Amino acid sequence: MGHFCYICQRVRANERFSGRGHRDHVCKDCARLPRETRKELEILSELERMLHQSHISERNQDRLLSLTQHPAPKVVRTATVLLEPARSYPFRRRRLVRLRRNPDLLRRLITELPAGMWEGYVGRYGDSLEDPGELLRGFDSGLPDLPPEDPGPEPDPDEPICWEDCERGVLD
Ligand SMILES: [Zn+2]
Repeated sequence: MGHFCYICQRVRANERFSGRGHRDHVCKDCARLPRETRKELEILSELERMLHQSHISERNQDRLLSLTQHPAPKVVRTATVLLEPARSYPFRRRRLVRLRRNPDLLRRLITELPAGMWEGYVGRYGDSLEDPGELLRGFDSGLPDLPPEDPGPEPDPDEPICWEDCERGVLD
């Protein structure tokens, strides 16, 4: 049974943590990173969690806005790209469907967010779309750092398309 490091966002073996690291949820490798790098990774992980929330609140939007003035360029770029969907599509439900009508923004999310961030989001919430491949188009060309994708099992064509919420009986 491992332990989660919230900086590199991995479950790592217990021996990868010091006593203090255990308490802080920071593995030994990440604890050795320069302070600025660590802080930057922490913020990027905060932004990723924000994207996964069911609702990006006005307070979150203010936080994004203030991060567009951050000294680290990667933080600035990530916060800038996320600000538009946070304002225009603050609710996660049906966000991916609505985004299809905004291909320019979709392209920016795919190409300008840190490697894996948008892919992780679509992978988690996009699998009930009729054609998730359409949302993922461009990943091969835009993000050379991504590991090769496991194609996984063939989708069952008879499986009904369902949003997570319709299982709970909540529909638009
Ligand atoms: Zn770590």
